[in-house]
Amino acid sequence: MSWQAHFPTRVFFGRGVINEQANLLPALGSRALIVCGNGGSAIRNGAMEDVCQALRQESINWELFDEVEPNPTIETIRRGAALAYENKADFVIGIGGGSPMDAAKGMAITNLERITDQELLELKYGNVLPIVLVPTTAGTGSEVTSASILTSHNDQTKRNIGTAKLIPSIAFLDPSYTSSIPWQITADTAVDAYSHAIESYFSAKNSRISSLFSTQAMMILGKELKIIAEKRELDPENRESLLYASYLAGVAISLTGTSIPHAIGYSLTYYKGMPHGRANGIVMPAWLDFNYQVSTQHRIRTALEISSLASLTEFRELIALLCGPAPVCTSDEHHVFLKHALKTKNIYNNLVVPRPEDVTEILLNSLNWNRELL
Ligand code: NAP
Ligand code: FE
Repeated sequence: MSWQAHFPTRVFFGRGVINEQANLLPALGSRALIVCGNGGSAIRNGAMEDVCQALRQESINWELFDEVEPNPTIETIRRGAALAYENKADFVIGIGGGSPMDAAKGMAITNLERITDQELLELKYGNVLPIVLVPTTAGTGSEVTSASILTSHNDQTKRNIGTAKLIPSIAFLDPSYTSSIPWQITADTAVDAYSHAIESYFSAKNSRISSLFSTQAMMILGKELKIIAEKRELDPENRESLLYASYLAGVAISLTGTSIPHAIGYSLTYYKGMPHGRANGIVMPAWLDFNYQVSTQHRIRTALEISSLASLTEFRELIALLCGPAPVCTSDEHHVFLKHALKTKNIYNNLVVPRPEDVTEILLNSLNWNRELL
């Protein structure tokens, strides 16, 4: 048995944590760049006010970049990094779902304006300012991972610019910010968290330490996914469990990385506009069928049991309730999705490495194919 672990983020969980821990911030500097989404949710859910109050209390100046779109592009990261540079920011605070959190990580790279997109994607970047993250969705776990997933129009897909330099210094997890999330975003993001847990569990890099986190996350999320499917409004306890489990799943993927659903899901987001978690959800049942066929039946049974699921059929039905129908695709799109998936690293990070024909099969079984065009 051999494994490695590195999760250095200081994590604070609970209602009111930002206010309680504000005195940690001056150690990071006297000027901050705050990064949030362009939809205004950080203001409506109270996270922005709590962050600004903490900065005021600690006499820290800030500048705001509030233009992050879902699935942020490299161009957006460059604009935010320029603002950080102009204002001599000492650290970056990202508030929001995975999009603003991943964007904040990219904007913390201090030499971004002196490197090309290619160099960025090859991870040839310099120093990174300290990063503080405040998740307001319960899904990505970005608050504890090294990953920053950016849309690259040049590559027509999403790319990860993550290295250990991007691991956040501090994460404030306050479940009260998540109470305002509408049902569909709650479902999409919870499915993302579950996909992290189960992809980690079936990862080629699964270890004794990663499965500690992935199985605990699956245990909580399996129950919570059913509750989301049944109820339109969630109780505060459910919100708390979802945020906790998405953090656990984030630690799990920080140890193993993600795998086949993420590798294929990027194309569903880029070409079909599907939110990230839903895109993974659409692929997960066919991926588990594949894993079941290629001799991991015992592990599948254990994964389902841990997740309080009776069968793969029950899982497929649950995902259909949460994610809705798969998009209709053409054979041209099939080729494009396959090409992109085979270029990712995560497609090979599965307990059993798929052959191209296996990926084709997973694509055919996940999506709705426009038969007239096939
Ligand atoms: P998101 O794109 O950050 O946000 C989706 C929507 O939810 C936005 O419209 C956002 O509004 C809204 N929202 C956020 N918090 C809310 C709240 N408390 N109440 C109401 N609405 C709220 O979605 P996400 O699923 O959290 O993140 C997806 C991104 O994370 C993708 O780019 C994905 O690739 C990435 N990701 C990263 C990792 C990692 O380890 N780094 C892992 C998985 C996924 P605003 O515009 O106001 O923010
Ligand atoms: Fe994800």
